[in-house]
Amino acid sequence: MIKAFMVDLDGVVYKGEVIREGAVEFFDYLVTHNISYCVITNHSSFHRRYYSEKLNRMGINVPVERILSSPYEMALRTKELGYKRAYVIGRDGLIEELKEVGCSVSDDPDVVIVGYDEDYNFQKITKAIRAVLDGKPLWIVNPDRLLPKEDGFYPDSGSLGASIVYATAVQPVYFGKPNEHIFRRAFDLLGVKPEETVMIGDTLETDILGAKQVGARAVYISGVEKRGYNGVSPDYSFENLKEVLRNIEKIMEVDQG
Ligand SMILES: [Mg+2]
Repeated sequence: MIKAFMVDLDGVVYKGEVIREGAVEFFDYLVTHNISYCVITNHSSFHRRYYSEKLNRMGINVPVERILSSPYEMALRTKELGYKRAYVIGRDGLIEELKEVGCSVSDDPDVVIVGYDEDYNFQKITKAIRAVLDGKPLWIVNPDRLLPKEDGFYPDSGSLGASIVYATAVQPVYFGKPNEHIFRRAFDLLGVKPEETVMIGDTLETDILGAKQVGARAVYISGVEKRGYNGVSPDYSFENLKEVLRNIEKIMEVDQG
């Protein structure tokens, strides 16, 4: 029995600053029918408050506690491992999440962290490489290659971390989807089993692959992603959340024939 939804943000709920069709109605439905949910984003730039405020402006009330992001997941992990200092290539929102759990930015770190950074440069990569060669673990906020924006693609965390991976020949730890640990956090937060949840996302390589790997049902929002990926098939494909809502009873059915 389906008890909860995990919803990707960019491309599903909104695209940039524009809300997508059916998004408000979809969240209203979940609340009205007492269906548990959380949103999950791989985006590495912002604190969770940013998403809560953005969604609120769009007429969707999602409290910070229902938002899982890869920077937040990473912050929780530093706390679990007792890491107090991180060398960070990344933006303020990522640093804020780390600081909130007691991990500060340092050139003498316990861990090297790489996220999307518009001020990425030679000095930063050099520092990161030296710390990793010195034995510090390398954490990459998400494995995403590209960050799509209104004016085109930008290199995302996976691509920015790639030079450090190459230079050091060290295996990094990737956070965010499709890796299992962010989904485990979601199941804990929602208090459900994987088979009781549905993931809705617009990226096959992260949202859909990750959901299928952990045993959740996967709904693909088609027509947003421009790149193909043949590694996985979703249980359903729809154009937007309006279509999802129209088929919600079918999606939530117990038996998948
Ligand atoms: Mg997306």
